[in-house]
Amino acid sequence: MMHEKDSRGFWSDLVRLKRLWPYMKQSKQLLIWATIFIPLVGITQSIKPLISKWGIDDGIIKSNYDVLIWAAVSFFVAVLFEYIMRALQAFVSAKAVFKMIYRLRNKVVNHIMYLPARFHDKNMSGALVTRATSDFDNLSNSLNQGMLNAIVDLIVIASCVAGMFYLSPKLAVYIVFMIPLAIMIITLFTRFLKRTMLAARKLLSESNAFAQEMIYGQTTVKLLSAQKQCTELFHKKNIAYRNSQMKSVMIDAFLFAVLDSIAIVGLGVMFWFAISNMLEGEPNLTPGLLIAFAQYIRQVFDPLKQLGNKMAMLQGTFTGVDRIFGVLDEKKEIDGNEDFVSLKKSITFKDFCFAYEEDHMILKNINLEILKNQSVAIVGPTGSGKSSLVKVLLKQYSYSQGQVLIDHQDLKNLKKDSLLSKVGYVAQDMVLFTGSIAYNIKLGRDISDEQMKKAAKLVNIDQYIEDLERGYQSNIIEQGSNLSHGQRQLICFARALASEPEIVILDEATASVDPISEQMIQSAVERIFSKKTVIAIAHRLSTIEKCDNIFVIKKGELKESGNFQSLIEQKGVFAELA
Ligand code: ATP
Ligand code: MG
Repeated sequence: MMHEKDSRGFWSDLVRLKRLWPYMKQSKQLLIWATIFIPLVGITQSIKPLISKWGIDDGIIKSNYDVLIWAAVSFFVAVLFEYIMRALQAFVSAKAVFKMIYRLRNKVVNHIMYLPARFHDKNMSGALVTRATSDFDNLSNSLNQGMLNAIVDLIVIASCVAGMFYLSPKLAVYIVFMIPLAIMIITLFTRFLKRTMLAARKLLSESNAFAQEMIYGQTTVKLLSAQKQCTELFHKKNIAYRNSQMKSVMIDAFLFAVLDSIAIVGLGVMFWFAISNMLEGEPNLTPGLLIAFAQYIRQVFDPLKQLGNKMAMLQGTFTGVDRIFGVLDEKKEIDGNEDFVSLKKSITFKDFCFAYEEDHMILKNINLEILKNQSVAIVGPTGSGKSSLVKVLLKQYSYSQGQVLIDHQDLKNLKKDSLLSKVGYVAQDMVLFTGSIAYNIKLGRDISDEQMKKAAKLVNIDQYIEDLERGYQSNIIEQGSNLSHGQRQLICFARALASEPEIVILDEATASVDPISEQMIQSAVERIFSKKTVIAIAHRLSTIEKCDNIFVIKKGELKESGNFQSLIEQKGVFAELA
């Protein structure tokens, strides 16, 4: 599982952001533009009060209307310029962030698809979906609104401080004194804000997950008449989320008020100094200077008021980066490097043992051989390890004991893709995708319409599909909820056969189909499969009567093998199942 650490120091958190750099640096041009626009915003902000001072002292007081008009025009141009710079800066920064998010999101989704089955067993798919979707939205929001805006604000504050020192170092010293006090207060508040914001986010994801599950399982909920209880539970989670959000809004509002008061105290201090002659000897003490300083104070404290919120948002950036790179740090599965061309003689398991988790053996000491063009069956009680055996053969899980040989090649050395392109597999738990029936059968592979129709005919679903209004283009919705269980299974079956594989693995492929259809499929398949290697897992023993060889597995051990008749005569485990 990936960890979320919330309590690291701010600076070490900041250093972690460097992992974003490789994805950011490809947008060099945008970054260069952003670094040009950001200081320009700061410089314009610090110039505006200087223009005010000029207009007041040299224009109004000296009754020089030319200067006043020029000052007014310059002020207007400065304001316009600042807005344009801000807009351009926001645009290029957001573009750079979105491009980075795009690259990173592709990488993460690609990475998730290549992570070993064991990783997926341990991580809830809902959480992984969040990694690929809303974690990125949070990251891009917090980067844009938190990180980049905070940088702009800091530069604006620094330029305004510089402007104050330029106008009157003496007065500036008194005003700047208040900034550390403000920062101390912000730091204190940020700690609370961070905590409540994280809590709110956690509550939100909890209530989202709950709503998702409830809506997904609405049929079950309704059938159990549990709507009332479920909605009440949701209501509780929703209220908890609202309360924690209210809490962060209140802290934020309080911080606003406190900082506003500090700014007003700053103004008061300045005017008091002015009238109490404490700034005697200050050559520039003019009305224009005081107005300019008042403007500077507002320009410094306005962004400071929002800094707390932005710092708390930054926490979202850190958490997002942690979560996303937590997935990227997971190792992809190791693939072999030999190509699989075709099966020549046999598939052999030698002294093979398998465990999902160490020290809990699922398959023990299996020795068996599947000959080319034979159809073999694997039978055994529920949980005996049949599906696990074929999953290993499909390279879904790695193993450490014993050997699996495909002719003379070790399974471990084979390239997964090259093996799977020759295998048709119908899994026990079927998966259908939203899209047309044709899409579900072809699934992006290089399969012609003819091959698709042939496969559908083979599994006896062609008539049903053709009778639909839009035939193969008819839509399958939500995992096939508009199809019967048997129809879903047949579409998965057709999908496995469409690529005309030479090895076919069926895990209860016709378990949900009625006996008559099953018989029809059986006979069609037997005709075709006499030329193919077939491994079928079956509970209904009637379907495997004609198999060349049957392996009986019980509690992970191979108990018996032979053809149907000989196994019945043995009167062992198989005969008990029959
Ligand atoms: P069934 O007839 O019910 O399909 P099976 O013979 O196919 O049963 P398997 O699915 O191979 O049984 O499971 C064998 C054992 O391995 C079971 O005890 C099961 O709990 C365990 N198991 C299966 N999949 C996993 C997994 N992904 N992680 C850990 N244990 C697993
Ligand atoms: Mg199974």
